[in-house]
Amino acid sequence: MGGGGPQRASDRASLRRTNLGLVLRLLHDAGPRPRIQIAADTGLPKATVTHLVAELMERGLVREGEAERQGSIGRPSRTVEIDGRSLCGLGVEINVDYLSLIALDLRGEVVAEQHTPFDVRGSCAGTVLDRMAGTIRHTCDTLRARGTRPAGVTVAAPGVIETGSGVVSYAPNIGWRDVAVVTGLRDRLGAGGPAVLLENDAKLGAVAEYAVAAAADIHDLIYVTGETGVGGGIISDGRLLRGAAGFAGEIGHMPLDPGGETCVCGRSGCWETMVGLSALLRGAAAPDDPVRDPTVDLVQRLAELRRRADEGDHATLVSLERIADGLALGAGLLADVLNPRAVVLGGYFVHFGDHLIDRVRAEFARRVMAPDAGGCEVMLSTLGFSAAARGGAHLALDRVFQDPAGVADAALT
Ligand SMILES: [Zn+2]
Repeated sequence: MGGGGPQRASDRASLRRTNLGLVLRLLHDAGPRPRIQIAADTGLPKATVTHLVAELMERGLVREGEAERQGSIGRPSRTVEIDGRSLCGLGVEINVDYLSLIALDLRGEVVAEQHTPFDVRGSCAGTVLDRMAGTIRHTCDTLRARGTRPAGVTVAAPGVIETGSGVVSYAPNIGWRDVAVVTGLRDRLGAGGPAVLLENDAKLGAVAEYAVAAAADIHDLIYVTGETGVGGGIISDGRLLRGAAGFAGEIGHMPLDPGGETCVCGRSGCWETMVGLSALLRGAAAPDDPVRDPTVDLVQRLAELRRRADEGDHATLVSLERIADGLALGAGLLADVLNPRAVVLGGYFVHFGDHLIDRVRAEFARRVMAPDAGGCEVMLSTLGFSAAARGGAHLALDRVFQDPAGVADAALT
């Protein structure tokens, strides 16, 4: 530390919290290692690392691991590793016709998972919040009984979010406008409930994809998810890009088809009208075809369409080709602006992945300005429809890495 004069106690406390987070983050990202290696990796003095590890251990966040012999002589030193059991993060996704929940422990392992079919669109917001609060409370009780404390919960909602105030401003697919989700849940969960955050579902999908991609040393990615709407999330240099007011990533409404179909947003020719699920259905089947009947379960309709594609049905394949070209157009534009290492396709694009991916990749490579698409690869998500809830759980855990002691102590109450 540079500068003269005695350090104030508050500065020392703040530095200590930062360093606790630094050590915990290192063990999470780089895996178990002896204290001396932690000191080398973080640049902290060995004695400081010893104290920090002791403090993390006391709170149940790390534990002693295997003994590791350094060279052929000398005492083997024990490694330190993340202890997954003590804390977990929860993610809850609200969608048109279901609520889903995932809890991840500090190592990123799933410790609870629940998918509840629920008519969100047909229910009032208060009823949805009641149901969500019940599910969260039940999961927290079950986990606490096993010795795992919830560090926080992130709600994933399909729409425009004000993260600061915790309000869903506008979510046309579920019919919500100005719903105070965070306050509503806090009131229902009471004083002892976990901290509650709110974020857009596609942004959280990007967070979940990043947890996978980071292991492959990918730190810049764009996640594009296709459902009724088309949403996206951008990870830039390892961080979720939110923009000045949190609206970054509204990629579904880029006007890419002048004079095209009318969009739910009231404008026309949005990317979503070209590559969203409705576009696929419109191109693949006549209006009276059962795959376009909204009263038939979507899973069944997609399975039928998949069967037709596999059997070589002309209309279905032509429609998929159009979707692939549309995807390449939008993804290519985004790649020109942001130069990501990966564009990850999620949602229904995965369901038709093998019919889409080769054509998307070829068109994408042709369109992107930079040679070799700027080093960017188009890939399919492996997380499926659980991506948003999973990303929510990761975001809830992020608080632990920022302030391990503060969050661990708060979770005890
Ligand atoms: Zn639009």
